[in-house]
Amino acid sequence: MARTLAPGRGSRLDATRRHNLSTILTTAHHHPGVSRAELTRLSGLNRSTVGALVAELSELKLVREVAPAEHSSRGRPSPHIYPRAEVTALAINPDYDAVVIGLVGLGGTVHQRERHPWKGTPSVAETVQVATSALERLRRDTKPTPWVIAAGVAVPALVRSDDSSIVRAVHLDWTEEPLGEMLAAALDLPVVVRNDARVATIAETVFGAGRGVRDLVYLNGSPSGVGGGAIVDGVTLRGQDGFGGEMGHTAVAGGREQCHCGRRGCLETEVSLVRLLAALGRESVDPRDLDDELSRAAANPTVRAEIQRQMTVLAGAIGNFISIFNPELVILGGFLGSLYTAAPQMLDSAVARDSFAQISASARIERAQLGSRLLLVGAAELAFLPLLRDPAAHAQPVPK
Ligand SMILES: [Zn+2]
Repeated sequence: MARTLAPGRGSRLDATRRHNLSTILTTAHHHPGVSRAELTRLSGLNRSTVGALVAELSELKLVREVAPAEHSSRGRPSPHIYPRAEVTALAINPDYDAVVIGLVGLGGTVHQRERHPWKGTPSVAETVQVATSALERLRRDTKPTPWVIAAGVAVPALVRSDDSSIVRAVHLDWTEEPLGEMLAAALDLPVVVRNDARVATIAETVFGAGRGVRDLVYLNGSPSGVGGGAIVDGVTLRGQDGFGGEMGHTAVAGGREQCHCGRRGCLETEVSLVRLLAALGRESVDPRDLDDELSRAAANPTVRAEIQRQMTVLAGAIGNFISIFNPELVILGGFLGSLYTAAPQMLDSAVARDSFAQISASARIERAQLGSRLLLVGAAELAFLPLLRDPAAHAQPVPK
């Protein structure tokens, strides 16, 4: 997946114009404000070809060129290329405690974000209804008027990628639900649905801590559990059914709790937002507020003990993943990022203690960089892929 997400190297042949347009638009989307000179260097195309491609993308209203400020660079000033942020995707993230919906522009700009808290879990029909009314509102309230090209959905579930249907979402209690089809009909947009941790891995690889990293492990802590993803030599680990990277369902030392997957002592039953919130005395927290909640409770012995317990278990699991994948980077997203920020040295030293020293010595641990934008930006990236691959075929005039 990472290979197909990355811009390609261009070719000078006319027959590859589509590929070249894709390369230029994808580079501008992933590097908003890139100079024309840098775009030329990154694409491997010559200067006049890049100029013509940028002009074509400008005419398609997918990018705009901005003249550089005077005296900003040595030699001939090079214009900067920005993707048009009014070209947008609707991003949807249903989870057991809320449905989060946003409108995301090219370049990763989150124009609007709405969190709809839920009493009990949202059904598929309710998710479709919330998304439909949100789309209408977001179209009306976003200025300049957005052109919504598609919708991307991140969901804590096993997802059949062929038809974007849900195989099983335990925490939402959804089984064999045609979510993609229902949303596409209600929104009148192309829709792509993927597992939330897969979506997060894509977002961090493209816009976050994993930029340019060819071997990484990503661990995502959501209200529903712990998911993961691995990029191995630049390619997303997929597995035969697309279910690879379910790292939340690897057994950890000392774990005894029954997991919904049928095993006992899975990572996600031991390292869990629900148990962290219980220590905080809370039922639900907006992920954006979790850092503050943990920092306010730093002196609370119950909270401290729970953080220490979860860190110890997490460190053992990370040590295992380091042995398996020999990654350059381990990225922690969602509530795992908040846990890490609450006590980074505790985790670093526990990983060093509990792993194969010669392998872990060169692995870094970092928090995901996209924060609460993570799943929205990742879901939008999925929705943008057809446009990025063939800009001329998918472009339409942006409404005035
Ligand atoms: Zn499990």
